[in-house]
Amino acid sequence: MTARLIDGLAMASQIRAGLAEHALDMKTRQGGIVPGLAVILVGDDPASQVYVRNKNRVCEEVGFRSYSHTLPSSTTEIDLLTLINGLNNNPQVNGILIQLPLPEHLNERTVINAIDPIKDVDGFHPVNVGRQTTGLMSLAPCTPLGCMMILNEDLPDLGGKKALVVGRSNIVGKPMALMLIQSSCTVTVAHSRTQNLREECLAADILVAAIGRPAFIKGDWIKEGAVVIDVGINRITDPETGKHKLCGDVEFDVARERAAAITPVPGGVGPMTIACLMQNTMQATMMQNGWGW
Ligand code: NDP
Repeated sequence: MTARLIDGLAMASQIRAGLAEHALDMKTRQGGIVPGLAVILVGDDPASQVYVRNKNRVCEEVGFRSYSHTLPSSTTEIDLLTLINGLNNNPQVNGILIQLPLPEHLNERTVINAIDPIKDVDGFHPVNVGRQTTGLMSLAPCTPLGCMMILNEDLPDLGGKKALVVGRSNIVGKPMALMLIQSSCTVTVAHSRTQNLREECLAADILVAAIGRPAFIKGDWIKEGAVVIDVGINRITDPETGKHKLCGDVEFDVARERAAAITPVPGGVGPMTIACLMQNTMQATMMQNGWGW
Protein backbone atom coordinates (compact mmCIF):
# COMPACT_ATOMS: atom_id res chain seq x y z
CA MET A 1 0.00 0.00 0.00
CA THR A 2 1.26 3.49 -0.80
CA ALA A 3 -0.21 6.10 1.48
CA ARG A 4 -2.29 8.99 0.32
CA LEU A 5 -0.43 12.24 0.93
CA ILE A 6 -2.44 14.60 3.12
CA ASP A 7 -2.17 18.07 1.59
CA GLY A 8 -2.01 20.44 4.56
CA LEU A 9 -1.23 23.36 2.27
CA ALA A 10 -4.47 22.91 0.34
CA MET A 11 -6.58 22.39 3.49
CA ALA A 12 -5.04 25.44 5.14
CA SER A 13 -5.64 27.54 2.05
CA GLN A 14 -9.32 26.56 2.09
CA ILE A 15 -9.62 27.51 5.77
CA ARG A 16 -7.97 30.88 5.11
CA ALA A 17 -10.30 31.54 2.18
CA GLY A 18 -13.33 30.81 4.40
CA LEU A 19 -11.99 33.11 7.11
CA ALA A 20 -11.33 35.90 4.60
CA GLU A 21 -14.96 35.67 3.46
CA HIS A 22 -16.20 35.68 7.06
CA ALA A 23 -13.96 38.66 7.93
CA LEU A 24 -15.25 40.63 4.95
CA ASP A 25 -18.84 39.87 5.95
CA MET A 26 -18.14 41.00 9.53
CA LYS A 27 -16.57 44.20 8.32
CA THR A 28 -19.26 45.15 5.82
CA ARG A 29 -22.43 43.79 7.42
CA GLN A 30 -21.80 43.30 11.13
CA GLY A 31 -20.86 46.73 12.42
CA GLY A 32 -17.41 47.06 10.89
CA ILE A 33 -15.75 44.53 13.19
CA VAL A 34 -12.22 43.62 12.05
CA PRO A 35 -10.41 40.84 13.98
CA GLY A 36 -7.04 42.00 15.34
CA LEU A 37 -4.08 39.81 16.31
CA ALA A 38 -1.13 41.12 18.34
CA VAL A 39 2.10 39.12 18.14
CA ILE A 40 4.86 39.76 20.68
CA LEU A 41 8.42 38.72 19.88
CA VAL A 42 11.13 39.15 22.49
CA GLY A 43 14.70 38.87 21.21
CA ASP A 44 16.14 38.26 17.77
CA ASP A 45 15.92 34.50 17.20
CA PRO A 46 15.91 34.20 13.37
CA ALA A 47 13.44 31.25 13.27
CA SER A 48 11.01 33.16 15.53
CA GLN A 49 11.34 36.23 13.29
CA VAL A 50 10.31 34.12 10.28
CA TYR A 51 7.31 32.68 12.17
CA VAL A 52 6.18 36.17 13.21
CA ARG A 53 6.52 37.53 9.66
CA ASN A 54 4.43 34.60 8.37
CA LYS A 55 1.72 35.23 10.94
CA ASN A 56 1.55 38.92 9.97
CA ARG A 57 1.41 38.02 6.28
CA VAL A 58 -1.45 35.55 6.78
CA CYS A 59 -3.32 38.09 8.93
CA GLU A 60 -3.21 40.54 6.04
CA GLU A 61 -4.26 37.84 3.58
CA VAL A 62 -7.45 37.05 5.52
CA GLY A 63 -8.26 40.70 6.20
CA PHE A 64 -7.37 40.80 9.92
CA ARG A 65 -5.43 43.62 11.57
CA SER A 66 -2.00 42.58 12.79
CA TYR A 67 0.01 44.33 15.47
CA SER A 68 3.67 43.38 15.83
CA HIS A 69 5.59 44.12 19.01
CA THR A 70 9.28 43.32 18.69
CA LEU A 71 11.13 43.84 21.96
CA PRO A 72 14.85 43.54 22.75
CA SER A 73 16.03 40.38 24.51
CA SER A 74 16.89 42.55 27.55
CA THR A 75 13.17 43.35 28.09
CA THR A 76 12.17 43.00 31.75
CA GLU A 77 9.23 40.92 32.91
CA ILE A 78 7.47 44.00 34.23
CA ASP A 79 7.77 45.75 30.84
CA LEU A 80 6.41 42.69 29.06
CA LEU A 81 3.52 42.33 31.53
CA THR A 82 2.71 46.03 31.10
CA LEU A 83 2.54 45.57 27.32
CA ILE A 84 0.26 42.52 27.70
CA ASN A 85 -1.98 44.43 30.08
CA GLY A 86 -2.33 47.22 27.51
CA LEU A 87 -3.24 44.71 24.80
CA ASN A 88 -5.74 43.00 27.12
CA ASN A 89 -7.49 46.37 27.45
CA ASN A 90 -7.29 47.35 23.79
CA PRO A 91 -10.65 46.58 22.11
CA GLN A 92 -9.03 46.49 18.66
CA VAL A 93 -6.87 43.55 19.73
CA ASN A 94 -8.85 40.30 19.85
CA GLY A 95 -5.97 37.84 20.00
CA ILE A 96 -2.59 37.98 21.75
CA LEU A 97 0.24 35.60 20.93
CA ILE A 98 3.64 35.45 22.62
CA GLN A 99 6.21 33.90 20.31
CA LEU A 100 7.96 31.13 22.28
CA PRO A 101 10.56 30.40 23.46
CA LEU A 102 11.17 33.50 25.56
CA PRO A 103 14.65 34.53 26.72
CA GLU A 104 15.62 32.59 29.84
CA HIS A 105 15.20 35.46 32.32
CA LEU A 106 11.47 35.66 31.50
CA ASN A 107 9.10 33.20 33.14
CA GLU A 108 6.99 31.68 30.37
CA ARG A 109 4.19 30.65 32.74
CA THR A 110 3.89 34.11 34.34
CA VAL A 111 3.79 35.73 30.92
CA ILE A 112 1.18 33.36 29.45
CA ASN A 113 -0.96 33.67 32.58
CA ALA A 114 -1.03 37.46 32.10
CA ILE A 115 -2.97 37.16 28.82
CA ASP A 116 -6.73 37.60 29.12
CA PRO A 117 -8.03 34.02 28.49
CA ILE A 118 -10.58 35.31 25.98
CA LYS A 119 -7.69 36.70 23.89
CA ASP A 120 -5.41 33.66 24.38
CA VAL A 121 -5.42 32.49 20.75
CA ASP A 122 -2.64 29.96 21.42
CA GLY A 123 -4.90 28.22 23.95
CA PHE A 124 -2.09 27.90 26.52
CA HIS A 125 -3.69 29.83 29.43
CA PRO A 126 -4.73 27.55 32.34
CA VAL A 127 -8.32 28.78 32.02
CA ASN A 128 -8.45 27.56 28.42
CA VAL A 129 -6.68 24.31 29.31
CA GLY A 130 -9.21 23.70 32.11
CA ARG A 131 -12.18 24.61 29.95
CA GLN A 132 -10.93 22.35 27.17
CA THR A 133 -10.40 19.48 29.60
CA THR A 134 -13.93 19.76 30.94
CA GLY A 135 -15.48 20.10 27.49
CA LEU A 136 -16.46 23.78 27.80
CA MET A 137 -16.04 26.24 24.93
CA SER A 138 -12.41 27.30 24.86
CA LEU A 139 -9.59 28.53 22.67
CA ALA A 140 -7.64 25.36 21.86
CA PRO A 141 -3.94 25.02 20.95
CA CYS A 142 -3.48 25.52 17.21
CA THR A 143 -1.26 22.57 16.27
CA PRO A 144 -3.43 19.78 17.75
CA LEU A 145 -6.49 21.61 16.43
CA GLY A 146 -5.00 21.44 12.93
CA CYS A 147 -4.18 17.74 13.39
CA MET A 148 -7.78 17.06 14.42
CA MET A 149 -9.11 18.85 11.35
CA ILE A 150 -6.89 16.67 9.18
CA LEU A 151 -8.04 13.51 10.97
CA ASN A 152 -11.72 14.45 10.83
CA GLU A 153 -11.42 15.00 7.10
CA ASP A 154 -9.58 11.73 6.59
CA LEU A 155 -11.54 9.42 8.87
CA PRO A 156 -15.30 9.98 9.01
CA ASP A 157 -15.60 8.24 12.40
CA LEU A 158 -12.72 8.33 14.87
CA GLY A 159 -14.75 6.45 17.51
CA GLY A 160 -13.00 3.34 18.84
CA LYS A 161 -9.81 3.88 16.84
CA LYS A 162 -6.54 3.19 18.67
CA ALA A 163 -4.55 6.42 18.70
CA LEU A 164 -0.95 6.80 19.81
CA VAL A 165 0.47 10.25 20.56
CA VAL A 166 4.25 10.26 20.85
CA GLY A 167 5.21 13.33 22.91
CA ARG A 168 3.53 14.86 25.95
CA SER A 169 4.33 18.57 25.73
CA ASN A 170 1.76 21.11 26.92
CA ILE A 171 1.53 22.64 23.45
CA VAL A 172 1.18 19.52 21.29
CA GLY A 173 1.15 16.06 22.90
CA LYS A 174 -1.17 16.59 25.90
CA PRO A 175 -3.87 18.67 24.16
CA MET A 176 -3.69 16.30 21.18
CA ALA A 177 -4.38 13.32 23.45
CA LEU A 178 -7.28 15.17 25.04
CA MET A 179 -8.85 16.01 21.69
CA LEU A 180 -8.54 12.39 20.57
CA ILE A 181 -10.21 11.22 23.78
CA GLN A 182 -13.01 13.71 23.16
CA SER A 183 -13.41 12.13 19.71
CA SER A 184 -13.84 8.70 21.39
CA CYS A 185 -10.47 7.26 20.37
CA THR A 186 -8.68 4.85 22.69
CA VAL A 187 -5.58 6.89 23.40
CA THR A 188 -2.04 5.99 24.45
CA VAL A 189 0.53 8.70 25.15
CA ALA A 190 4.20 7.79 24.73
CA HIS A 191 7.23 9.78 25.88
CA SER A 192 10.93 9.40 26.52
CA ARG A 193 10.35 6.83 29.29
CA THR A 194 8.00 4.64 27.26
CA GLN A 195 9.04 1.00 26.91
CA ASN A 196 8.60 -0.85 23.59
CA LEU A 197 7.65 2.15 21.50
CA ARG A 198 7.81 -0.01 18.37
CA GLU A 199 5.00 -2.28 19.67
CA GLU A 200 2.93 0.74 20.71
CA CYS A 201 3.31 2.15 17.19
CA LEU A 202 2.44 -1.16 15.52
CA ALA A 203 -0.87 -1.25 17.43
CA ALA A 204 -1.95 2.27 16.46
CA ASP A 205 -4.64 3.03 13.86
CA ILE A 206 -3.73 6.70 14.24
CA LEU A 207 -0.19 7.78 15.04
CA VAL A 208 0.67 11.37 15.94
CA ALA A 209 4.41 12.01 16.25
CA ALA A 210 5.43 15.16 18.17
CA ILE A 211 8.94 14.48 19.41
CA GLY A 212 11.40 16.76 17.62
CA ARG A 213 13.82 14.04 16.44
CA PRO A 214 14.36 13.46 12.73
CA ALA A 215 12.90 10.17 11.41
CA PHE A 216 12.85 8.74 14.95
CA ILE A 217 9.70 6.66 14.29
CA LYS A 218 10.86 3.97 11.88
CA GLY A 219 8.74 3.27 8.83
CA ASP A 220 8.36 -0.42 9.64
CA TRP A 221 6.85 0.47 13.04
CA ILE A 222 3.75 1.80 11.26
CA LYS A 223 0.67 -0.44 11.29
CA GLU A 224 -0.53 -1.34 7.77
CA GLY A 225 -3.34 1.08 6.91
CA ALA A 226 -2.69 3.54 9.75
CA VAL A 227 -3.13 7.31 9.45
CA VAL A 228 0.13 9.06 10.32
CA ILE A 229 0.25 12.69 11.43
CA ASP A 230 3.83 13.94 11.63
CA VAL A 231 4.06 17.12 13.70
CA GLY A 232 7.86 17.17 13.94
CA ILE A 233 9.84 19.92 12.23
CA ASN A 234 13.54 19.08 12.16
CA ARG A 235 16.22 20.90 10.20
CA ILE A 236 18.75 18.42 8.78
CA THR A 237 21.53 18.47 6.22
CA ASP A 238 20.72 16.48 3.09
CA PRO A 239 23.61 14.00 2.69
CA GLU A 240 23.30 14.15 -1.11
CA THR A 241 23.17 17.91 -1.67
CA GLY A 242 24.77 19.18 1.55
CA LYS A 243 21.87 21.65 1.81
CA HIS A 244 19.59 22.17 4.79
CA LYS A 245 16.10 20.71 4.56
CA LEU A 246 13.16 20.03 6.85
CA CYS A 247 12.04 16.56 7.86
CA GLY A 248 9.54 15.11 10.29
CA ASP A 249 9.75 12.68 13.20
CA VAL A 250 8.66 9.73 11.03
CA GLU A 251 10.85 7.87 8.52
CA PHE A 252 8.70 9.09 5.68
CA ASP A 253 9.69 6.98 2.65
CA VAL A 254 9.24 3.63 4.44
CA ALA A 255 6.18 4.72 6.44
CA ARG A 256 4.53 5.81 3.21
CA GLU A 257 4.55 2.23 1.93
CA ARG A 258 2.56 1.00 4.97
CA ALA A 259 0.23 3.82 6.00
CA ALA A 260 -3.15 4.57 4.44
CA ALA A 261 -2.52 8.32 4.70
CA ILE A 262 0.38 10.44 5.91
CA THR A 263 1.23 14.13 6.33
CA PRO A 264 4.45 15.26 4.63
CA VAL A 265 6.99 17.60 6.23
CA PRO A 266 6.93 20.33 5.08
CA GLY A 267 3.41 20.85 3.75
CA GLY A 268 1.40 18.84 6.30
CA VAL A 269 0.68 20.04 9.83
CA GLY A 270 2.72 23.29 9.64
CA PRO A 271 0.38 25.29 7.38
CA MET A 272 -2.63 24.04 9.36
CA THR A 273 -1.16 25.50 12.56
CA ILE A 274 -1.17 29.05 11.18
CA ALA A 275 -4.63 28.59 9.64
CA CYS A 276 -5.90 27.47 13.07
CA LEU A 277 -4.30 30.51 14.69
CA MET A 278 -6.38 32.67 12.34
CA GLN A 279 -9.46 30.59 13.12
CA ASN A 280 -8.86 31.07 16.85
CA THR A 281 -8.49 34.82 16.30
CA MET A 282 -11.86 34.81 14.53
CA GLN A 283 -13.38 32.73 17.36
CA ALA A 284 -11.94 35.08 19.98
CA THR A 285 -13.36 38.09 18.08
CA MET A 286 -16.78 36.47 17.97
CA MET A 287 -16.68 35.58 21.66
CA GLN A 288 -15.68 39.16 22.54
CA ASN A 289 -18.62 40.43 20.53
CA GLY A 290 -21.22 38.39 22.33
CA TRP A 291 -21.20 34.98 20.65
CA GLY A 292 -20.73 32.53 23.53
CA TRP A 293 -17.93 31.87 26.13
P1 NDP B 1 8.94 19.13 23.27
O1 NDP B 1 10.42 19.06 23.20
O2 NDP B 1 8.30 20.06 24.20
O3 NDP B 1 8.37 17.66 23.58
C1 NDP B 1 8.91 16.53 22.96
C2 NDP B 1 8.26 15.30 23.49
O4 NDP B 1 8.84 14.18 22.85
C3 NDP B 1 8.42 15.12 24.99
O5 NDP B 1 7.21 14.78 25.59
C4 NDP B 1 9.44 13.98 25.10
O6 NDP B 1 9.23 13.12 26.21
C5 NDP B 1 9.15 13.21 23.83
N1 NDP B 1 10.30 12.43 23.47
C6 NDP B 1 11.60 12.83 23.39
N2 NDP B 1 12.41 11.79 23.10
C7 NDP B 1 11.60 10.70 23.00
C8 NDP B 1 11.84 9.34 22.73
N3 NDP B 1 13.05 8.89 22.55
N4 NDP B 1 10.79 8.49 22.70
C9 NDP B 1 9.53 8.95 22.91
N5 NDP B 1 9.25 10.24 23.18
C10 NDP B 1 10.27 11.11 23.23
O7 NDP B 1 8.47 19.39 21.76
P2 NDP B 1 7.09 20.00 21.18
O8 NDP B 1 5.96 19.17 21.61
O9 NDP B 1 7.06 21.45 21.39
O10 NDP B 1 7.36 19.79 19.61
C11 NDP B 1 7.57 18.50 19.07
C12 NDP B 1 7.94 18.63 17.61
O11 NDP B 1 6.86 19.26 16.92
C13 NDP B 1 9.15 19.52 17.33
O12 NDP B 1 9.83 19.03 16.19
C14 NDP B 1 8.53 20.86 16.98
O13 NDP B 1 9.37 21.64 16.13
C15 NDP B 1 7.31 20.42 16.24
N6 NDP B 1 6.22 21.40 16.24
C16 NDP B 1 5.61 21.59 15.06
C17 NDP B 1 4.56 22.47 14.98
C18 NDP B 1 3.88 22.62 13.67
O14 NDP B 1 3.20 23.59 13.47
N7 NDP B 1 4.01 21.67 12.75
C19 NDP B 1 4.12 23.26 16.12
C20 NDP B 1 4.77 22.89 17.36
C21 NDP B 1 5.80 22.00 17.40
P3 NDP B 1 9.48 13.59 27.74
O15 NDP B 1 8.28 14.40 28.09
O16 NDP B 1 9.57 12.33 28.48
O17 NDP B 1 10.74 14.40 27.73
